[in-house]
Amino acid sequence: MVDYGHCSQVQDNCGTLFCDAGRVGEVADAEGVLEVTATRRVELNLGWACNNHCLFCGEQERRERSRQEGMFKIPGDKVRADLARYRREGYNHVTFLGGEPTIRRDIAALVRFACRIGFSNVFITTNGRRFADRRFLRELLRAGLTDVCVSVHGPGAEVHDKLTDQPGSFAETERGLLNLVLEGCRFHTSSVITSINAPHLAEMVRYLNRFRPLHLFMALPNPTGGAYRDFARLYPRFKVAGTHVREALAVARDLGQLVTVAKLPFCHLQGFEGYADDLFWGREQRRHINTQIDAEEAGTPRIDQRFADRCAHPLTCRTCRFRFLCEGIEAFYLIRRGPAELEPVPGEPVRRPSELWPSGPRDRETGSFLDSARAVSSAGRAENECRSVDHGGRDE
Ligand code: SF4
Repeated sequence: MVDYGHCSQVQDNCGTLFCDAGRVGEVADAEGVLEVTATRRVELNLGWACNNHCLFCGEQERRERSRQEGMFKIPGDKVRADLARYRREGYNHVTFLGGEPTIRRDIAALVRFACRIGFSNVFITTNGRRFADRRFLRELLRAGLTDVCVSVHGPGAEVHDKLTDQPGSFAETERGLLNLVLEGCRFHTSSVITSINAPHLAEMVRYLNRFRPLHLFMALPNPTGGAYRDFARLYPRFKVAGTHVREALAVARDLGQLVTVAKLPFCHLQGFEGYADDLFWGREQRRHINTQIDAEEAGTPRIDQRFADRCAHPLTCRTCRFRFLCEGIEAFYLIRRGPAELEPVPGEPVRRPSELWPSGPRDRETGSFLDSARAVSSAGRAENECRSVDHGGRDE
C-alpha cells in the first residue's frame, strides 16, 4: 500500500517549497519494487542570518526583528532540546531551515546530534554557496546529512545574482551543485519565480537538469517581505508566469526531469495540471506535520497555515472544474490585481487528484514516482547513510 499522506512540503523563509527527499516514504529497490516507510517530518528554523539577500525574501522583516530580539541565530542548546523533543514525539525526519543554515559554525554538530538521536533523514535547505567548499560538504555528510535542497534562481550569474543581490553567489552555488553530484548526495533544487527570472525558466530547467537533481521545485513567491514591498516589479502576473512555466514543464517532460510548481493556479497550467505541487505531495499532511520552533513559541501561526489563511477563491471560480482542488489565490494578489486573469475552466468538476495524474509526472496506474524513486536508490543513498553515531559527547 502506498500512503501518500506521509509526505510533506513546506515553505521556507524565501517563500519556496521543499519536498521530502524520502520520496514520500517510498524507496525503490533494484527491481523498482516500492517499500513504504512512514515519514514524520519536523522543520527547525535555525535563525535568520543569511549570506544572500534575495530581493523577494519573504522574511526580511522577521530577519530584522530577530536581529533586534537577539534571535538572529537560534542557540544550539535550544535546537538540540527541540530535536530531542520532536524525536521523542516520533519524528524521524528533520529539515533545517534558515536564514541560511550552513553559515552556522555548529551546523555539523547539529546534524551529528540529530543523526545520533535517531533522525533517519537530516535535510538542509540552503543556497548551496558553502558547498562550494567540498571539504565542508564532506564534513556534513560524515556528520549524517542525508538530503539537500539548493535554491537556484537563474540559469546563470546575470539572473541569479540579480535576484540574490550578491555578486558571485551563482558561481559558488554552481560549484556547490557540482560538489553535491561528485559526492553522490541526494539533492533537490528550488526556484522562486519572479518577473525577473520567469522568461528564463525553460533555460533554467535545461541548466539544472545537467546536475540531475531528484526534483526541481518552482514556486511563485509569498507576497510578504521583499515580494510584498516590491510587488509590482517582482511578482509576475499569472498569465506571464503561466506561459513561461508551461514552456519549462514541456522541456522538463522531454528531458525526463521531475518538476513541480506551486502557487500558480490550475487555470494557468493548462495541460500540465498534474505538475501542481499540492497534488504531488498531498496538501493536508503537510499542514499537520510541519512545525517551526520559534514561530510556535511566539504564538504565531505555522508557515503553511499562514499561507492557507491568506488564500481565497473569487466568485469567478464558481464555475471552474478545478475549484475543489484549487487552493485559491493569495488575497493580496487579488487586491492588487483583481480576478480578471483567472480563467475558469469549464467541464465536469475534478474532485480527486488522481484525475489529474495523466497530465503530470505521476505514474498513471500506480500513482507513484517510480523513476524518481529509482533515482533515489541510484544516487548514492548508501553513501549518505547516517554514519556518525559517536562524536565524543561534544556537539559544538
Ligand atoms: S478555481 Fe479559480 S483560481 Fe483555481 S483554477 Fe479555477 S479559475 Fe483558476
